[in-house]
Amino acid sequence: MVERTHSPFMPSHEERMSPNPAQPKVKKAPTPVSVHFLGTCSVDFGNNIWLFDAADGTNNRLHQSSLRMVNISRIFVTHMHADHVLGIVAILAVVMSGVGQTPEGLERLRKQGVNKKADINIYGPVGLREFIRNIFRITTATLTGAFAVHELIPEGSQPSAGCSPEELHVNEAVGRDIYANAEGVWETIVDEALFKGNKGWSVNAGPLVHRVPSIGYVLKEPDPTHPLDHQRLIPLLQANSKALAAMDPPIKHPLSVLSHLTSLPRPPPFTLPSGEVLHPPEPTGEQGRKLVIFGDCSGGTPNKALQALCSNASLLIHECTNAAIPESVQKGDKGRAVRASGLEQSLEKKRDKEFELAAKDRGVAREPWVFHGRHDTLAAAVAAEDEFEAKRIQVRKKAQSRGHSTPDDVGEFANTIGARRVVVNHFSAMFPSPKYTTNDPFPSLLSRMSPFPYPTTSAAYHEANTPAKPLHPSELHLRVIMQSLVNQISAAWNGRDCEDHAVQGPEQHFVRLAVPSRDFMVIRVPSHELTEHEMDTMREAREEIVYVMKSWADYGGAWVEEDGEEKRWVGV
Ligand SMILES: [Zn+2]
Ligand SMILES: [Zn+2]
Repeated sequence: MVERTHSPFMPSHEERMSPNPAQPKVKKAPTPVSVHFLGTCSVDFGNNIWLFDAADGTNNRLHQSSLRMVNISRIFVTHMHADHVLGIVAILAVVMSGVGQTPEGLERLRKQGVNKKADINIYGPVGLREFIRNIFRITTATLTGAFAVHELIPEGSQPSAGCSPEELHVNEAVGRDIYANAEGVWETIVDEALFKGNKGWSVNAGPLVHRVPSIGYVLKEPDPTHPLDHQRLIPLLQANSKALAAMDPPIKHPLSVLSHLTSLPRPPPFTLPSGEVLHPPEPTGEQGRKLVIFGDCSGGTPNKALQALCSNASLLIHECTNAAIPESVQKGDKGRAVRASGLEQSLEKKRDKEFELAAKDRGVAREPWVFHGRHDTLAAAVAAEDEFEAKRIQVRKKAQSRGHSTPDDVGEFANTIGARRVVVNHFSAMFPSPKYTTNDPFPSLLSRMSPFPYPTTSAAYHEANTPAKPLHPSELHLRVIMQSLVNQISAAWNGRDCEDHAVQGPEQHFVRLAVPSRDFMVIRVPSHELTEHEMDTMREAREEIVYVMKSWADYGGAWVEEDGEEKRWVGV
């Protein structure tokens, strides 16, 4: 366990670094937080990256992405399945490249033994320490720095290996054995006071239901506070400087009391020798951001303590391996048959008329792609001759038996915890990733497609100077299928009690959209609640989604209008 050495009466690191501590500090903008989808995901705090899981391809994807791998400071592992852990060692080898390691450097690390300080901290289930250590040992790899593996141990279990001097790898620092509390969750895995560079974020974790032990992580920023009134406080502290220096223990730097007041967790009020009581800054009433990042699991978590930790998530990242897709979306056969019979003219007229009507209905919760009239049991669905409902229930049962989730599971959990944003990942091979040319979470369904066989960052696309390809019907089909999957999530998430969780704003019926992740996608979390800009983006995306989904279901395609080109039918 890393001890907090920061005494309130010592100048903080920040103050020691500051050339003129008397200069009032400007109120800091909130840490930029963007989540990149590589592996399970990576959270980028600007100059500090936390990586969640690493599959064998994650190393390559990181190289292709805009993230700087040297900024990775922590790796969180959700579970020990190969598709989540095989890339970890390769990434450690890149970040702490052994190429530059000298025999003297290694000797120094060896001498430091159990006193080594970790450059990278790795957290995960029992088995992780043994796994990483053994690969380094067997491959006789050495690194320039040190890593520490902290195991999250459930009740009745033991760490996979110890951290005695004999056991530690030369590049390994002592890791913590973190035991679950009585409620089964792992508290304060990362302490909010220890966040590198920009203190504040803490991490808790809890158990999920999967075929092997799986972990959900909850990252929380402290609730924002008003800035301290430096104009009032600095003269007060300076007037008390002699008396403060005479205290036991002495406070030699009177202004260090300012950083004590803003330290975390929130300290009690501080009484000056002159009798004035200084209060830590008051909360603004807003909530700090909360990111909930789950490993493979079957429908949220049954653990009540973890559910409570997840409540009011700013962003939920959840797996969605399986999904039933309605026949009209899956095959597009209906549209194919109708169009093949040479009825284009009349169909176009019919379609135009329908969309005029649909446009009037926009903003109303009841949309053609929102599923209503659901049945709770397979028998009820069959009795009602609701084929799609029956399929959904069957797929859900199958997913559950394999420790995975469907759109209903994700949507219901997102609704339960009141999530503000939802991104899903870990799709089965039935759902290939669409080839968008942008990292944006809400790309146009009708946009051109990436010229590469794999999704790329827009940077890579521009560098290659290869023009994007016109949208192909099969690509539109993939996009529509993926959209159908997340529409089911959005429907369950916005839920029957839509009013309760509806985003507050001028538009009563604003419906939030779940996002399907794809490699290189980036979602920014500027604040806990959605910003106006995010809501506008969603409204715009939603209009197009409603048009495309309906057009695809009815006619097997959609009209695409590209710059300087004539309207083009993409579909059957
Ligand atoms: Zn998996
Ligand atoms: Zn798994």
